[in-house]
Amino acid sequence: MKSIDQYSFKGKKVIIRVDFNVPLNSQKQVTDNSRIEAAKSTILKIINDGGSCILMSHLGRPKGEDQNFSLKHLVDEIEKTLGLNVKFVSQSVGEIASKAANEIKPKEVLLLENLRFHLEESIGDENFAKKLASLADCYVNDAFGTAHRAHASTAVIAKHFPNKKFAGHLLLKEVSSIQKVMDSGEKPVLGILGGAKVSSKITIIDNIIDKVDSLIIGGGMAFTFVKALGGSIGNSICENDKIDLALSILEKAKEKNVSIHLPLDVVCGDDFSEKANTIESEINNIPEGWEGMDAGPKSRKLFDKIINESKTILWNGPVGVFELSKFSKGTIAIGESISRSTKNGAFSLVGGGDSVAAVKKFNFENKVSYVSTGGGAMLESLEGKILPGIQALMD
Ligand code: AMP
Repeated sequence: MKSIDQYSFKGKKVIIRVDFNVPLNSQKQVTDNSRIEAAKSTILKIINDGGSCILMSHLGRPKGEDQNFSLKHLVDEIEKTLGLNVKFVSQSVGEIASKAANEIKPKEVLLLENLRFHLEESIGDENFAKKLASLADCYVNDAFGTAHRAHASTAVIAKHFPNKKFAGHLLLKEVSSIQKVMDSGEKPVLGILGGAKVSSKITIIDNIIDKVDSLIIGGGMAFTFVKALGGSIGNSICENDKIDLALSILEKAKEKNVSIHLPLDVVCGDDFSEKANTIESEINNIPEGWEGMDAGPKSRKLFDKIINESKTILWNGPVGVFELSKFSKGTIAIGESISRSTKNGAFSLVGGGDSVAAVKKFNFENKVSYVSTGGGAMLESLEGKILPGIQALMD
Protein backbone atom coordinates (compact mmCIF):
# COMPACT_ATOMS: atom_id res chain seq x y z
CA MET A 1 0.00 0.00 0.00
CA LYS A 2 1.52 3.36 -1.05
CA SER A 3 1.23 6.31 1.30
CA ILE A 4 0.40 9.79 0.01
CA ASP A 5 3.71 10.83 1.57
CA GLN A 6 5.56 8.85 -1.10
CA TYR A 7 4.35 11.12 -3.90
CA SER A 8 4.16 14.78 -4.87
CA PHE A 9 0.72 15.70 -6.15
CA LYS A 10 1.84 18.98 -7.80
CA GLY A 11 -0.48 19.77 -10.69
CA LYS A 12 -2.53 16.59 -10.16
CA LYS A 13 -6.28 16.26 -9.71
CA VAL A 14 -6.83 13.89 -6.84
CA ILE A 15 -10.14 12.24 -6.07
CA ILE A 16 -10.25 11.45 -2.35
CA ARG A 17 -12.74 9.09 -0.71
CA VAL A 18 -13.34 10.62 2.70
CA ASP A 19 -15.79 9.61 5.40
CA PHE A 20 -17.86 12.75 5.97
CA ASN A 21 -20.82 10.80 7.32
CA VAL A 22 -21.27 13.37 10.11
CA PRO A 23 -24.28 13.95 12.37
CA LEU A 24 -26.58 16.88 11.47
CA ASN A 25 -29.17 18.63 13.65
CA SER A 26 -32.68 19.61 12.51
CA GLN A 27 -31.29 22.82 10.95
CA LYS A 28 -28.85 20.64 8.97
CA GLN A 29 -25.84 21.92 10.87
CA VAL A 30 -22.93 19.60 11.63
CA THR A 31 -22.97 18.72 15.33
CA ASP A 32 -19.67 16.81 15.44
CA ASN A 33 -16.92 17.61 12.94
CA SER A 34 -14.40 15.00 14.08
CA ARG A 35 -14.63 13.05 10.81
CA ILE A 36 -13.86 16.20 8.82
CA GLU A 37 -11.02 17.03 11.20
CA ALA A 38 -9.69 13.48 10.74
CA ALA A 39 -9.36 13.94 6.94
CA LYS A 40 -7.72 17.37 7.20
CA SER A 41 -4.13 16.21 7.21
CA THR A 42 -4.54 14.23 3.96
CA ILE A 43 -6.33 17.09 2.18
CA LEU A 44 -3.76 19.68 3.28
CA LYS A 45 -0.84 17.47 2.19
CA ILE A 46 -2.25 17.40 -1.36
CA ILE A 47 -3.10 21.11 -1.38
CA ASN A 48 0.36 22.01 -0.04
CA ASP A 49 1.94 19.88 -2.78
CA GLY A 50 0.09 22.04 -5.32
CA GLY A 51 -2.56 19.48 -6.24
CA SER A 52 -6.33 19.88 -6.31
CA CYS A 53 -8.74 17.82 -4.21
CA ILE A 54 -12.02 16.33 -5.39
CA LEU A 55 -13.75 15.09 -2.26
CA MET A 56 -16.36 12.34 -2.35
CA SER A 57 -18.29 10.81 0.54
CA HIS A 58 -21.57 9.31 1.56
CA LEU A 59 -23.88 10.87 4.16
CA GLY A 60 -26.53 8.78 5.87
CA ARG A 61 -28.52 6.13 4.07
CA PRO A 62 -30.67 7.91 1.47
CA LYS A 63 -32.63 5.69 -0.88
CA GLY A 64 -31.76 7.60 -4.03
CA GLU A 65 -31.66 11.39 -4.27
CA ASP A 66 -32.87 13.16 -1.13
CA GLN A 67 -31.86 16.76 -0.35
CA ASN A 68 -32.01 16.05 3.39
CA PHE A 69 -28.80 14.11 2.84
CA SER A 70 -27.12 16.56 0.47
CA LEU A 71 -23.45 17.25 1.13
CA LYS A 72 -24.21 20.94 0.51
CA HIS A 73 -25.11 21.08 4.23
CA LEU A 74 -21.47 20.32 5.06
CA VAL A 75 -19.76 23.01 3.00
CA ASP A 76 -19.52 25.69 5.74
CA GLU A 77 -18.19 23.26 8.29
CA ILE A 78 -15.61 21.83 5.86
CA GLU A 79 -14.44 25.33 4.95
CA LYS A 80 -14.14 26.24 8.63
CA THR A 81 -12.29 23.04 9.52
CA LEU A 82 -9.88 23.14 6.57
CA GLY A 83 -9.47 26.91 6.46
CA LEU A 84 -10.01 26.73 2.67
CA ASN A 85 -12.75 27.62 0.21
CA VAL A 86 -14.78 24.64 -0.96
CA LYS A 87 -16.73 24.49 -4.22
CA PHE A 88 -19.76 22.24 -4.15
CA VAL A 89 -21.18 20.49 -7.18
CA SER A 90 -24.69 19.01 -7.09
CA GLN A 91 -23.65 15.77 -8.80
CA SER A 92 -21.10 13.07 -8.13
CA VAL A 93 -21.03 11.91 -11.75
CA GLY A 94 -22.45 13.46 -14.92
CA GLU A 95 -21.91 16.52 -17.05
CA ILE A 96 -21.95 19.11 -14.26
CA ALA A 97 -19.55 17.08 -12.13
CA SER A 98 -17.18 16.56 -15.08
CA LYS A 99 -17.25 20.27 -15.94
CA ALA A 100 -16.50 21.25 -12.32
CA ALA A 101 -13.66 18.72 -12.13
CA ASN A 102 -12.24 19.98 -15.44
CA GLU A 103 -12.25 23.56 -14.24
CA ILE A 104 -10.69 22.95 -10.83
CA LYS A 105 -7.27 24.60 -10.38
CA PRO A 106 -4.27 23.61 -8.26
CA LYS A 107 -4.81 24.15 -4.52
CA GLU A 108 -8.61 24.19 -4.94
CA VAL A 109 -11.12 21.90 -3.24
CA LEU A 110 -14.24 20.52 -4.91
CA LEU A 111 -16.91 18.59 -3.02
CA LEU A 112 -19.10 16.16 -4.96
CA GLU A 113 -22.71 15.38 -4.05
CA ASN A 114 -23.56 12.39 -1.82
CA LEU A 115 -22.37 9.17 -3.48
CA ARG A 116 -25.37 7.28 -2.13
CA PHE A 117 -27.77 9.30 -4.26
CA HIS A 118 -26.73 6.61 -6.74
CA LEU A 119 -27.71 3.08 -5.80
CA GLU A 120 -24.72 1.98 -7.92
CA GLU A 121 -22.34 3.13 -5.16
CA SER A 122 -23.32 0.48 -2.61
CA ILE A 123 -23.46 -2.37 -5.10
CA GLY A 124 -19.97 -1.57 -6.35
CA ASP A 125 -21.10 -0.79 -9.90
CA GLU A 126 -18.19 -0.87 -12.38
CA ASN A 127 -19.58 1.83 -14.63
CA PHE A 128 -20.26 4.25 -11.77
CA ALA A 129 -16.71 3.69 -10.48
CA LYS A 130 -15.34 4.38 -13.97
CA LYS A 131 -17.23 7.67 -14.19
CA LEU A 132 -15.90 8.77 -10.79
CA ALA A 133 -12.38 7.75 -11.84
CA SER A 134 -12.63 9.84 -15.03
CA LEU A 135 -12.73 13.02 -12.90
CA ALA A 136 -9.13 12.75 -11.65
CA ASP A 137 -5.49 11.72 -12.21
CA CYS A 138 -4.95 10.03 -8.84
CA TYR A 139 -7.05 8.24 -6.23
CA VAL A 140 -6.68 8.45 -2.45
CA ASN A 141 -8.68 6.45 0.06
CA ASP A 142 -8.85 8.01 3.52
CA ALA A 143 -12.21 6.57 4.56
CA PHE A 144 -11.28 3.81 6.99
CA GLY A 145 -14.86 3.75 8.31
CA THR A 146 -16.13 2.38 4.98
CA ALA A 147 -13.07 0.32 3.98
CA HIS A 148 -14.92 -2.90 4.91
CA ARG A 149 -17.45 -2.28 2.13
CA ALA A 150 -16.75 -3.22 -1.48
CA HIS A 151 -18.39 -0.05 -2.77
CA ALA A 152 -17.70 1.71 -6.06
CA SER A 153 -15.82 4.58 -4.41
CA THR A 154 -13.85 2.47 -1.92
CA ALA A 155 -12.78 -0.67 -3.74
CA VAL A 156 -13.89 -0.76 -7.37
CA ILE A 157 -12.54 2.66 -8.40
CA ALA A 158 -8.97 1.81 -7.39
CA LYS A 159 -8.33 -0.42 -10.42
CA HIS A 160 -8.53 2.65 -12.66
CA PHE A 161 -5.40 4.03 -11.01
CA PRO A 162 -2.93 1.12 -11.16
CA ASN A 163 0.10 3.26 -10.23
CA LYS A 164 -1.67 6.27 -8.82
CA LYS A 165 -3.65 4.94 -5.86
CA PHE A 166 -2.68 5.90 -2.34
CA ALA A 167 -3.66 5.53 1.30
CA GLY A 168 -4.36 8.74 3.17
CA HIS A 169 -2.98 9.58 6.61
CA LEU A 170 -6.07 8.49 8.56
CA LEU A 171 -6.33 5.14 6.80
CA LEU A 172 -2.62 4.50 7.41
CA LYS A 173 -2.88 5.43 11.08
CA GLU A 174 -5.77 3.00 11.56
CA VAL A 175 -4.03 0.17 9.73
CA SER A 176 -0.72 0.65 11.53
CA SER A 177 -2.45 0.75 14.96
CA ILE A 178 -4.13 -2.56 14.25
CA GLN A 179 -0.87 -4.04 12.99
CA LYS A 180 0.92 -2.85 16.10
CA VAL A 181 -1.49 -4.84 18.24
CA MET A 182 -1.95 -7.87 16.03
CA ASP A 183 1.50 -8.41 14.53
CA SER A 184 4.24 -6.35 16.05
CA GLY A 185 3.09 -5.42 19.54
CA GLU A 186 5.61 -5.49 22.37
CA LYS A 187 4.81 -8.35 24.76
CA PRO A 188 2.90 -9.00 26.93
CA VAL A 189 -0.06 -8.30 24.66
CA LEU A 190 -3.47 -8.00 26.33
CA GLY A 191 -6.95 -8.06 24.79
CA ILE A 192 -9.88 -6.72 26.80
CA LEU A 193 -13.22 -7.79 25.43
CA GLY A 194 -16.55 -6.73 26.86
CA GLY A 195 -20.01 -5.89 25.63
CA ALA A 196 -23.24 -7.77 25.67
CA LYS A 197 -22.84 -10.95 23.68
CA VAL A 198 -20.29 -13.69 23.06
CA SER A 199 -21.93 -14.37 19.70
CA SER A 200 -21.05 -10.93 18.31
CA LYS A 201 -17.41 -11.22 19.42
CA ILE A 202 -16.67 -14.86 18.71
CA THR A 203 -14.76 -14.30 15.45
CA ILE A 204 -12.68 -11.64 17.16
CA ILE A 205 -11.85 -13.96 20.06
CA ASP A 206 -10.97 -16.71 17.61
CA ASN A 207 -8.57 -14.46 15.75
CA ILE A 208 -6.92 -12.62 18.62
CA ILE A 209 -6.34 -15.69 20.75
CA ASP A 210 -3.37 -16.40 18.45
CA LYS A 211 -1.95 -12.93 19.03
CA VAL A 212 -2.40 -12.13 22.73
CA ASP A 213 -0.74 -13.38 25.91
CA SER A 214 -3.79 -12.74 28.02
CA LEU A 215 -7.43 -11.90 27.58
CA ILE A 216 -9.83 -10.18 29.95
CA ILE A 217 -13.41 -11.15 29.21
CA GLY A 218 -15.86 -8.81 30.95
CA GLY A 219 -19.31 -7.30 30.56
CA GLY A 220 -22.40 -9.29 29.72
CA MET A 221 -20.50 -11.89 27.72
CA ALA A 222 -18.59 -13.08 30.79
CA PHE A 223 -21.71 -14.76 32.20
CA THR A 224 -21.90 -17.35 29.43
CA PHE A 225 -18.37 -18.41 30.43
CA VAL A 226 -19.18 -18.41 34.13
CA LYS A 227 -22.25 -20.57 33.55
CA ALA A 228 -20.20 -22.89 31.33
CA LEU A 229 -17.84 -23.36 34.27
CA GLY A 230 -20.76 -24.31 36.53
CA GLY A 231 -21.36 -20.97 38.28
CA SER A 232 -24.75 -19.56 39.32
CA ILE A 233 -25.39 -16.31 37.49
CA GLY A 234 -28.85 -15.33 38.79
CA ASN A 235 -30.70 -13.22 36.22
CA SER A 236 -27.57 -12.12 34.33
CA ILE A 237 -27.64 -12.22 30.54
CA CYS A 238 -26.43 -15.49 29.08
CA GLU A 239 -26.45 -17.17 25.68
CA ASN A 240 -27.30 -20.73 26.58
CA ASP A 241 -26.65 -21.92 23.04
CA LYS A 242 -23.08 -20.60 23.27
CA ILE A 243 -22.05 -22.50 26.39
CA ASP A 244 -20.19 -25.19 24.42
CA LEU A 245 -18.53 -22.48 22.42
CA ALA A 246 -17.39 -20.78 25.63
CA LEU A 247 -15.88 -24.05 26.83
CA SER A 248 -14.06 -24.56 23.56
CA ILE A 249 -12.62 -21.02 23.76
CA LEU A 250 -11.34 -21.76 27.26
CA GLU A 251 -9.83 -25.03 25.99
CA LYS A 252 -8.19 -23.34 23.01
CA ALA A 253 -6.73 -20.65 25.29
CA LYS A 254 -5.21 -23.33 27.50
CA GLU A 255 -3.61 -25.04 24.48
CA LYS A 256 -2.16 -21.73 23.31
CA ASN A 257 -0.98 -20.71 26.76
CA VAL A 258 -3.20 -17.64 26.79
CA SER A 259 -4.49 -16.72 30.24
CA ILE A 260 -8.16 -15.83 30.30
CA HIS A 261 -9.33 -13.62 33.14
CA LEU A 262 -13.02 -13.41 33.99
CA PRO A 263 -14.33 -10.92 36.59
CA LEU A 264 -14.07 -12.22 40.18
CA ASP A 265 -17.02 -10.25 41.48
CA VAL A 266 -19.82 -8.14 40.05
CA VAL A 267 -22.15 -5.32 40.99
CA CYS A 268 -25.68 -6.66 40.55
CA GLY A 269 -28.93 -4.80 40.11
CA ASP A 270 -32.55 -5.86 40.65
CA ASP A 271 -33.65 -3.73 37.70
CA PHE A 272 -32.06 -2.63 34.41
CA SER A 273 -32.29 1.05 35.35
CA GLU A 274 -30.73 3.87 37.34
CA LYS A 275 -33.32 3.15 40.08
CA ALA A 276 -32.06 -0.39 40.68
CA ASN A 277 -31.04 -1.55 44.15
CA THR A 278 -27.53 -2.99 44.06
CA ILE A 279 -25.49 -5.66 45.79
CA GLU A 280 -21.97 -6.96 45.26
CA SER A 281 -21.57 -10.66 44.63
CA GLU A 282 -18.95 -13.26 43.68
CA ILE A 283 -19.47 -13.73 39.95
CA ASN A 284 -20.19 -17.46 40.24
CA ASN A 285 -22.64 -17.18 43.08
CA ILE A 286 -25.19 -14.55 42.11
CA PRO A 287 -28.51 -14.86 43.94
CA GLU A 288 -31.71 -15.40 41.94
CA GLY A 289 -33.47 -12.14 41.08
CA TRP A 290 -30.17 -10.23 40.71
CA GLU A 291 -28.45 -9.39 37.47
CA GLY A 292 -24.68 -8.85 37.12
CA MET A 293 -24.26 -5.43 35.52
CA ASP A 294 -20.73 -4.21 36.29
CA ALA A 295 -17.28 -5.38 37.37
CA GLY A 296 -16.96 -5.42 41.17
CA PRO A 297 -14.06 -4.02 43.26
CA LYS A 298 -11.99 -7.24 43.29
CA SER A 299 -12.35 -7.54 39.51
CA ARG A 300 -11.30 -3.94 39.02
CA LYS A 301 -8.19 -4.55 41.12
CA LEU A 302 -7.34 -7.71 39.17
CA PHE A 303 -7.86 -5.98 35.81
CA ASP A 304 -5.70 -3.06 36.93
CA LYS A 305 -2.83 -5.41 37.78
CA ILE A 306 -3.00 -7.19 34.42
CA ILE A 307 -3.28 -3.94 32.47
CA ASN A 308 -0.32 -2.55 34.40
CA GLU A 309 1.84 -5.53 33.41
CA SER A 310 0.95 -5.30 29.70
CA LYS A 311 2.93 -3.48 27.02
CA THR A 312 0.32 -3.66 24.24
CA ILE A 313 -3.38 -3.35 24.96
CA LEU A 314 -6.45 -3.71 22.78
CA TRP A 315 -9.82 -2.74 24.26
CA ASN A 316 -13.12 -3.58 22.64
CA GLY A 317 -16.39 -3.47 24.55
CA PRO A 318 -17.40 -2.04 27.95
CA VAL A 319 -17.16 -4.26 31.04
CA GLY A 320 -20.50 -3.12 32.40
CA VAL A 321 -23.68 -1.25 31.58
CA PHE A 322 -21.70 2.01 31.43
CA GLU A 323 -24.70 4.00 30.11
CA LEU A 324 -26.14 3.82 33.65
CA SER A 325 -23.91 5.69 36.11
CA LYS A 326 -24.55 3.11 38.85
CA PHE A 327 -22.92 0.46 36.67
CA SER A 328 -20.16 2.49 35.02
CA LYS A 329 -17.39 2.08 37.63
CA GLY A 330 -15.84 -1.00 35.99
CA THR A 331 -15.61 0.61 32.55
CA ILE A 332 -14.22 3.82 34.05
CA ALA A 333 -11.65 1.78 36.01
CA ILE A 334 -10.52 0.02 32.81
CA GLY A 335 -10.13 3.43 31.12
CA GLU A 336 -8.11 4.72 34.09
CA SER A 337 -5.86 1.65 34.17
CA ILE A 338 -5.21 1.79 30.43
CA SER A 339 -4.47 5.52 30.66
CA ARG A 340 -1.90 4.91 33.40
CA SER A 341 -0.31 2.03 31.53
CA THR A 342 -0.13 4.16 28.37
CA LYS A 343 1.56 6.93 30.33
CA ASN A 344 4.11 4.35 31.44
CA GLY A 345 4.92 3.42 27.84
CA ALA A 346 2.35 0.82 26.76
CA PHE A 347 0.64 1.08 23.37
CA SER A 348 -3.16 1.08 23.68
CA LEU A 349 -5.78 0.85 20.97
CA VAL A 350 -9.48 1.32 21.65
CA GLY A 351 -11.65 0.11 18.82
CA GLY A 352 -15.17 -0.77 17.91
CA GLY A 353 -18.52 0.72 18.87
CA ASP A 354 -19.34 1.05 22.51
CA SER A 355 -15.85 1.13 24.00
CA VAL A 356 -15.15 4.15 21.79
CA ALA A 357 -18.36 5.76 23.09
CA ALA A 358 -17.26 4.99 26.67
CA VAL A 359 -13.79 6.42 26.15
CA LYS A 360 -15.33 9.63 24.79
CA LYS A 361 -17.96 9.83 27.53
CA PHE A 362 -15.43 9.47 30.32
CA ASN A 363 -12.72 11.61 28.67
CA PHE A 364 -10.01 9.04 28.12
CA GLU A 365 -9.69 9.88 24.44
CA ASN A 366 -6.39 11.73 24.80
CA LYS A 367 -4.97 9.34 27.38
CA VAL A 368 -4.83 6.22 25.21
CA SER A 369 -2.54 5.76 22.22
CA TYR A 370 -5.23 5.53 19.53
CA VAL A 371 -9.01 5.53 19.31
CA SER A 372 -10.25 4.00 16.07
CA THR A 373 -12.67 6.01 13.91
CA GLY A 374 -14.10 2.95 12.19
CA GLY A 375 -16.70 0.80 13.97
CA GLY A 376 -17.49 -2.03 11.55
CA ALA A 377 -14.17 -1.69 9.72
CA MET A 378 -12.29 -1.99 12.99
CA LEU A 379 -14.27 -5.03 14.10
CA GLU A 380 -13.68 -6.80 10.78
CA SER A 381 -9.95 -6.02 11.02
CA LEU A 382 -9.86 -7.56 14.50
CA GLU A 383 -11.59 -10.60 13.03
CA GLY A 384 -8.55 -10.94 10.77
CA LYS A 385 -10.28 -9.98 7.54
CA ILE A 386 -8.51 -7.96 4.87
CA LEU A 387 -10.88 -5.12 4.10
CA PRO A 388 -11.87 -4.68 0.42
CA GLY A 389 -11.01 -0.96 0.45
CA ILE A 390 -7.51 -1.76 1.71
CA GLN A 391 -7.04 -4.80 -0.52
CA ALA A 392 -7.85 -2.62 -3.55
CA LEU A 393 -4.97 -0.29 -2.68
CA MET A 394 -2.58 -3.23 -2.50
CA ASP A 395 -3.52 -5.13 -5.67
P1 AMP B 1 -21.38 -4.53 22.37
O1 AMP B 1 -22.05 -3.66 21.35
O2 AMP B 1 -21.52 -5.99 22.13
O3 AMP B 1 -19.93 -4.10 22.61
O4 AMP B 1 -22.17 -4.31 23.71
C1 AMP B 1 -22.19 -3.08 24.37
C2 AMP B 1 -23.30 -3.10 25.36
O5 AMP B 1 -23.07 -4.13 26.28
C3 AMP B 1 -23.43 -1.81 26.13
O6 AMP B 1 -24.61 -1.17 25.75
C4 AMP B 1 -23.49 -2.29 27.58
O7 AMP B 1 -24.51 -1.67 28.32
C5 AMP B 1 -23.77 -3.76 27.45
N1 AMP B 1 -23.31 -4.52 28.62
C6 AMP B 1 -22.10 -4.52 29.18
N2 AMP B 1 -22.09 -5.28 30.29
C7 AMP B 1 -23.33 -5.79 30.44
C8 AMP B 1 -23.95 -6.63 31.40
N3 AMP B 1 -23.27 -7.13 32.43
N4 AMP B 1 -25.24 -6.94 31.23
C9 AMP B 1 -25.93 -6.44 30.20
N5 AMP B 1 -25.41 -5.64 29.25
C10 AMP B 1 -24.12 -5.31 29.37
